[in-house]
Amino acid sequence: MDVSCVFCGGKGCRRCKGTGWMEIGGCGSVDPNVFKNCGIDSEKYTGFAFGFGLDRIAMLRHAIPEIGLLTSNDQRFLSQF
Ligand SMILES: [Zn+2]
Repeated sequence: MDVSCVFCGGKGCRRCKGTGWMEIGGCGSVDPNVFKNCGIDSEKYTGFAFGFGLDRIAMLRHAIPEIGLLTSNDQRFLSQF
């Protein structure tokens, strides 16, 4: 799930990699096999899932360029907080 870049208003900047959009959460349709594994008729039901991660919000708040930095355990990166 993307939102208009909060830093440039959608014009494109370094933080949104020039796209004007920033990803704040994952989303997508539910695979029919998930329904089948739960005993639900996938021909009758479909689904859509999404989620907001605190990591994405922290990235926007602190202008963190790569999500991997949050889990790298690099003390040089973490010490700035
Ligand atoms: Zn931007």
